[in-house]
Amino acid sequence: MTDHTRLAEQLRQLDGKGYKAYKSIRDEYYFPQFTLKIDRVQGDPFAKPSQCRVLIPQQIAGFPPESYANRSREVGLRDFLTRQFHQLTQQRQRRSGTGNSGLIAIAQPGPEILERTTAFISDEQVELRFWIGLPAQGRRIDGWQAADLLCEQIPELVEGMLYPQLPTQNLQHYIDTHEDADWLRQQLSTQKLVAFVADGAILPRRSGIDTCPLESATPFQSPASLRVEFSCPHHGLMTGMGIPKGITLIVGGGYHGKSTLLKALELGIYNHIPGDGREYVVTHADAVKIRAEEGRPVTGLDLSPFINHLPHQQTTTQFYTTNASGSTSQAANIIEALELEAQVLLIDEDTTATNLMIRDRRMQSLIAKDQEPITPLIDQIRPLYEDHGVSSILVMGGSGDYFEVADTVIALSSYRPENVTEQALAIAVEYPSDRICEAAQPIGTRQFRRLQLKPSSLEWKGRPAKVKVHELREIILGREAIDLSQVEQLVESGQLRGIAAAILYLHQSPPTDLNFATAIQAILSQLSTEGLSTLSSFPEGDFVAFRRFELAAALNRWRDLSLED
Ligand code: ADP
Ligand code: MG
Repeated sequence: MTDHTRLAEQLRQLDGKGYKAYKSIRDEYYFPQFTLKIDRVQGDPFAKPSQCRVLIPQQIAGFPPESYANRSREVGLRDFLTRQFHQLTQQRQRRSGTGNSGLIAIAQPGPEILERTTAFISDEQVELRFWIGLPAQGRRIDGWQAADLLCEQIPELVEGMLYPQLPTQNLQHYIDTHEDADWLRQQLSTQKLVAFVADGAILPRRSGIDTCPLESATPFQSPASLRVEFSCPHHGLMTGMGIPKGITLIVGGGYHGKSTLLKALELGIYNHIPGDGREYVVTHADAVKIRAEEGRPVTGLDLSPFINHLPHQQTTTQFYTTNASGSTSQAANIIEALELEAQVLLIDEDTTATNLMIRDRRMQSLIAKDQEPITPLIDQIRPLYEDHGVSSILVMGGSGDYFEVADTVIALSSYRPENVTEQALAIAVEYPSDRICEAAQPIGTRQFRRLQLKPSSLEWKGRPAKVKVHELREIILGREAIDLSQVEQLVESGQLRGIAAAILYLHQSPPTDLNFATAIQAILSQLSTEGLSTLSSFPEGDFVAFRRFELAAALNRWRDLSLED
């Protein structure tokens, strides 16, 4: 290990040399308060910045062990440290230079609190992973600026990350909020709930592209008959609306806040930062958003509970397509969620295929069942709950046929929820829909697909395929793009990076049991014990935690996926 004074000297000696000469600084350096590791050096001033880590021993960092004493606090603290570091980097002045010269950046988090490979904490040390843009003037090394960046500015940033320097009250509040939300999610089942929306929560966002809370929003207020109470470990007594297990409809006129409530429930699988408005909106961790997704591929799935007797005797017990229709894609999304043991399905009429949702009495009379391959969800939704315990929450402003199968009906009126279950059930009796139940095939949750990752699509000339991620839209694996733009519970591009790494990992170290669901469960349980870092031998700084459903979603949308029975 080299001393930091030697590093400064070395950098000044590189001044004026060609940029490639920077390669010689990939090493570990000893500073009085920390160790700096330069893990990857960029090839030119415009390339992806160089990656470094700082490791601060706990004797210097000074974090009290209670602040990371359990998994929940540890994740919260690591997320907080990431944001703190991000904020410090935003406050600094960057000198001029070519390309990314002088940059210091950490992967930027959104409003969800998540496990990230940006920051780590243990009894021994605090570790931060970030990027620096090694300074250049044109294609020549600016050695003086580099010495200042690495040997003056980084130590200054590190100083700001020591426990005594942090805003400890904010930190405590942050960790407490996160721990309370985790606690609430765990408590849901004790009250037979699948979701909880606290009174006072702010659900709408500023705009479709801005995740900040809408300032002028009407705060959430629970209807008395659905009100539940929790006594949280930190926040104390909290009231709000509990959504019970079973089948729940969210109804109401257009523009009265139905989709906004469902969106908050979709993202209630994650915890949110203080000030977000959704800190205490929590949904069952295994809730999955279902939608129609025309054009996606489907690989070897048993769709027969929803689709049968296709024209030309096409089989649907092992269904393949490279271009699914609206109804087929939505059926595939349901079957795939069940394969991974989803416990709650979340559906918004705005993004469904109508023919998969309903077939009313008049249509049943006109088009006989043997001429209609589709069994609508309305006929499978109760067996799904009664036989498999899978609840559903549906936004349904347009069809009252669902009243008959609902356990709870919530009406939104000017963003205020009301419990209208009794009225809806009375209406169902007064105006019977006269539908004939069409479920011929019982719905199961097991699929017998076996995962086989073809090396040809994951390797290129004997080396692992190159991975790229385009925001939340897609993962590029080698030459194949995986379109994830309709997978709505992904919130950060770091999750896509983690998922891509998990696919490569599955290929390199295949699990012993190759059943599709079992293989995915196995890798997720490994990640929960060993952490996200296991996914790569390189100390990646931009992986963000994801669920088994989203990993499966990526594999299921991968056109190179091969499976055997
Ligand atoms: P729906 O699905 O019932 O048609 P949306 O959920 O799309 O309605 O909401 C319609 C509009 O109302 C959106 O612009 C949304 O941001 C806004 N909105 C939703 N909830 C609230 C609220 N609690 N306070 C203020 N505005 C809201
Ligand atoms: Mg809507």
